[in-house]
Amino acid sequence: MSHQQPSPSPHRRQTTRLGRRTFLRAGLAGLTAGATSMTWGPSAMAHTDLADAEFTVACRTEESFAECARPSGQWNWVGVSSCKLRYRTGYQGPNLADKPALGSHPNVTTFPFNGNFKGLCNDWAKYLNQVVRDVRSENIDWVGSAGTFACTSGQHGTGSAFDLTRINGTGNLRVDMNRHWRPGQSRGHRRRYLGVMASCRQYFRVVLNGWHDTDGTHGNHIHFDNAGSTTRLAFRNEPNARTDVTLVQVSARLLGINRNIDIDRIWGPITERAFQDLRKAFKIDTLPSPIGNRESTYLFLDLIARTSLGNFAAGDITYSDLSAGDDVK
Ligand SMILES: [Zn+2]
Repeated sequence: MSHQQPSPSPHRRQTTRLGRRTFLRAGLAGLTAGATSMTWGPSAMAHTDLADAEFTVACRTEESFAECARPSGQWNWVGVSSCKLRYRTGYQGPNLADKPALGSHPNVTTFPFNGNFKGLCNDWAKYLNQVVRDVRSENIDWVGSAGTFACTSGQHGTGSAFDLTRINGTGNLRVDMNRHWRPGQSRGHRRRYLGVMASCRQYFRVVLNGWHDTDGTHGNHIHFDNAGSTTRLAFRNEPNARTDVTLVQVSARLLGINRNIDIDRIWGPITERAFQDLRKAFKIDTLPSPIGNRESTYLFLDLIARTSLGNFAAGDITYSDLSAGDDVK
């Protein structure tokens, strides 16, 4: 499977013109999501995830559904009806340390979802598709998953969590969650994985991934959930906000801010410096900090997502570009 590097220049104008509108939509959605204050509680962090694909299969039986109060809603698409979901049934070959296998996603698959959570998933997929269109001039073709509902405690038990395994574009975009974050993969592949992570965090507060892997099972998928809430939260730097700490550290490392930064999920002076340098590079350092501010959070994450999915460095797409682009029309 070939992974052609995108060329930054041809789509730059389109990126900047459309980006502002996307941000404004994201900001509006944030405002209308309500002001309910939700803590980053233990239910979200004490996440019991799917141990492996076999467990998902075991749980996707009628007996299990009956015992586990399977959600009534079922969908085989996310975002728009043409963007199909596919179950990851296994891998395309051996999973070697120096060459992790790509997932196999042979069939369109129907998954049970909690209705409110499905709405958030649709918003996320539409947003990610907009970014992919802007920076790569393609759309998302299909989305791979290792499951939404399972007989387990935590958000999967109510169909309110999503295990993301693949994003496939209509062009050359291939982001495989088992392979592309790992050391040894090209910077471009790792950036695109980071871009997907950042897009998830726009809508979900808990985004477990290869670098933020609470129980050793997230090297092959990105888990996201919102602890049962539809409220989108501002960026955090508290000790338990490790999704956000990870995003800052990985962004600093892959986008050219600090290539040697440790991804240790601890917010110390080096991470604080990287965070401020990212804000400066994006030209949002004169706006309110994303810490605790939703509008700034959506902008910060939007810039990480666009920069990463376009395989740019921090500063190649900035807030001033987005603002100027809005006037071009
Ligand atoms: Zn999960």
